[in-house]
Amino acid sequence: MRELLGGKGANVAEMARLGIPVPPGFVITTETCRDFNTLGQRFPADLQLQVDKALAALEAQSGRKLGDAEDPLLVSVRSGAAISMPGMMDTVLNLGLNDRAVAGLARKSGDVRFAWDAYRRFIQMFGDVVLGIDHALFEEALAEARAERGVAEDTGLTPVDLTRLVDRYKLIVRQATGAEFPQEPEVQLMKAIRAVFMSWESQRARTYRRIEGITGLAGTAVTIQAMVFGNRAGESGTGVVFSRNPVTGERELYGEFLANAQGEDVVAGIRTPEPVAVLKERMPGLYDELTALSDKLEAHYRDMQDIEFTIEQGKLFLLQTRGGKRSARAAVRIATDLVAEGVLTREEALLRVDAMSLDQLLHPTIAPDAKRTVLARGLPASPGAAAGAVVFCADAAEAAAARGDKVILVRRETSPEDVHGMHAAQGVLTATGGMTSHAAVVARGMGKCCVTGAGTLIINEAAETITAPDGTVVKAGDLITLDGGTGEVMLGAVETVLPELGEDVRQLLAWADAVREMKVRANADTPEDAARARDFGAEGIGLCRTEHMFFAPERIRAMREMILAEDEAGRIAALDRLLPYQRADFAGILKEMAGLPVTIRLLDPPLHEFLPQGEGAIAELAGDLKVPVERLKDRLHALHEANPMMGHRGCRLMITYPEIARMQARAITEAASQLAAEGVETAVEVMVPLVGLEGEFNALADVVRDEAAKVEAETGHTLAIKVGTMIELPRACLRAGEIAASAEFFSFGTNDLTQFTFGFSRDDAGKFVPAYRERGLLAHDPFASLDTDGVGDLVAIGVARGRAKRAGLKTGICGEHGGDPASIAFCHGAGLDYVSCSPYRVPVARLAAAQASLKAPRTVLAAAAE
Ligand code: ADP
Ligand code: MG
Ligand code: MG
Repeated sequence: MRELLGGKGANVAEMARLGIPVPPGFVITTETCRDFNTLGQRFPADLQLQVDKALAALEAQSGRKLGDAEDPLLVSVRSGAAISMPGMMDTVLNLGLNDRAVAGLARKSGDVRFAWDAYRRFIQMFGDVVLGIDHALFEEALAEARAERGVAEDTGLTPVDLTRLVDRYKLIVRQATGAEFPQEPEVQLMKAIRAVFMSWESQRARTYRRIEGITGLAGTAVTIQAMVFGNRAGESGTGVVFSRNPVTGERELYGEFLANAQGEDVVAGIRTPEPVAVLKERMPGLYDELTALSDKLEAHYRDMQDIEFTIEQGKLFLLQTRGGKRSARAAVRIATDLVAEGVLTREEALLRVDAMSLDQLLHPTIAPDAKRTVLARGLPASPGAAAGAVVFCADAAEAAAARGDKVILVRRETSPEDVHGMHAAQGVLTATGGMTSHAAVVARGMGKCCVTGAGTLIINEAAETITAPDGTVVKAGDLITLDGGTGEVMLGAVETVLPELGEDVRQLLAWADAVREMKVRANADTPEDAARARDFGAEGIGLCRTEHMFFAPERIRAMREMILAEDEAGRIAALDRLLPYQRADFAGILKEMAGLPVTIRLLDPPLHEFLPQGEGAIAELAGDLKVPVERLKDRLHALHEANPMMGHRGCRLMITYPEIARMQARAITEAASQLAAEGVETAVEVMVPLVGLEGEFNALADVVRDEAAKVEAETGHTLAIKVGTMIELPRACLRAGEIAASAEFFSFGTNDLTQFTFGFSRDDAGKFVPAYRERGLLAHDPFASLDTDGVGDLVAIGVARGRAKRAGLKTGICGEHGGDPASIAFCHGAGLDYVSCSPYRVPVARLAAAQASLKAPRTVLAAAAE
């Protein structure tokens, strides 16, 4: 019932049902939170009555009363939505204490120190969360108390210190709010419930939901639960365990324990906890019990669990369980292990791994032999390697990222307010906190490299410096490198290398390949990219751009001569010099992709992109070409276009200069013949870009086919080269039937198709698309994730009309969208034969295509064409 009770409430109830020791309590539903918000942040009329009733039942069950002077019941008031948002919303612990109850708690427990520690914690949390008082005020008072006593940790404070601290806290409350700290437990409770509801709409919670794409939830539930105390004397403490290692996926009890502490101490990263393995020696019985419960929960939920526990004087309680966040590597390992253990089917395992997260596995790591100056070693909280300039606050990280700068966010500890900065940074470094601190959990979720608990670094956020143990001072803007795999913090930008796919990833992808119906190709322009794509499992090249091949120094010269030539003869002379380069390029790529289809696009960009810009460069070129500067300038002027994206480019260029297409067709065919002579099989598809008219395609297809036939005749090799087109103009989608009469394949160029469907310039959309997203006018950036409604309709129409004319017409997509799981799901539904994406996205696309097959049958959207 997680929709209604929130994940936390539902799972606590489920654990109670399984007979696992959890403190008793009750849950206020997420629907109540929604009602609270629709009523303008007022409680529904009957809430008070229902809370009174449920509380009375809880008091009866626990045999204690809230605020009682003899034996008080204390409760926690906990937030929790249907989807976990770690640390984003508020929780209040130890509620129900007041000046009378604290004395009762001290007497009843026989532990004065504990009672006053609970009271000061309560005032601090309530003050911060409910009364909105700056928590730094409380922390300063606490630090002073420690300083006066001369101890480093809160646990060193005496009962008398704590009673004085409570007085100071009350003074802080009085000064900040102009009122006394509320003594009535019922008032405390309703105020805390209100605060938890309010935290649903807090800025940080909203930001988190936006970044994580969480929508459609009613709100947060409120779980009210009897307190158990890890901050008592004896065998007491609190911790977090994962049923498997969340970084590597290995099957082991993994986590942390903090003796004599309450849960918030671990989560907030205030004290650095010990590995849970210490329990094995100190409290072996409890360790075994914890292991057994962890196994039981994992078996019940059939997934790796993240479990909060507290030990109160030798008795173990579980306080929360949820599917654990894990690194991409762990996700794959756990999914494949669970199949091997007979817990999951292969299909279930495929659906357990977020396709996009595979991208992280291809992230760089530090080169093994790279020279490094290690400043400190922290905890390897989230894998990968990252280098960047140091920034000390989230806003600075965001500003730098907006400028395109790479930064590392450095904080003493992160809090939920830092999430936008973590998102913007390449990596995150903290001085305190463990493997389950806020920074670690959030970074793993985001797939960001993170090192926590680098305690030997002195991070001075005010002065913006990091001081290493050896005295090195790193200032804002200096470069550092993090290794999230080892926890090393290094000076400067250290060399990184790209990883190999692990055995379990290959396994999972092999299962994916068996299930998916769409092929996956890659966009690659060089033999190196082609080789990498093939290694990642690409089944062909969906887009080989030819323009990049013209930029090497010896080639750009010939290209410029071609562009600046006065007549066809001049152009042909220059093209003749380009031909051997092109032939060698194509041969290289076709050889790498032997036996697999390769789609080569004819020249696409406007010609001025190949020409020099500045005065100096123009003068130099004029000298090179031995033409007067003025004449060159005239020619450049003539080539200038008001709107190059919509100008003389793509097939339009080759309609006016067919010799370009002729040269490229010859280079391609000669390369294929040469390979045929070597016994290498090729399957070339020549693609005409930016076609809108049937006649445009036909004219260029004639040139290509004619030239290919000539080469075939010359060389004696029959190559069966296909000629098709890139569908990237709305008109081409609409008139797809006419074009398909001669075109042998369609490849949807959804970058341009998006640009021309929306009328959004690809180069300028960044100025307004973010604002559209903020206002909810667009759910996604349509250049990142396909607009399945509008652009999607055009794709569906193009497929349907094309196939109506040419049965079985091969169709694919080759825009950026080919590597986006949501867009891939759309392509599956639209009946495309393949998607093509950047080499690094190939594993993502293989898994996403399999998931699309598992989730929905192929329904060719023929209706859209009607
Ligand atoms: P979050 O969602 O931020 O983790 P929680 O509601 O889980 O917030 O609570 C924060 C911390 O307080 C956790 O460590 C949790 O285990 C602890 N806690 C919550 N309720 C209780 C309780 N009734 N007794 C003891 N500890 C509790
Ligand atoms: Mg929790
Ligand atoms: Mg295009």
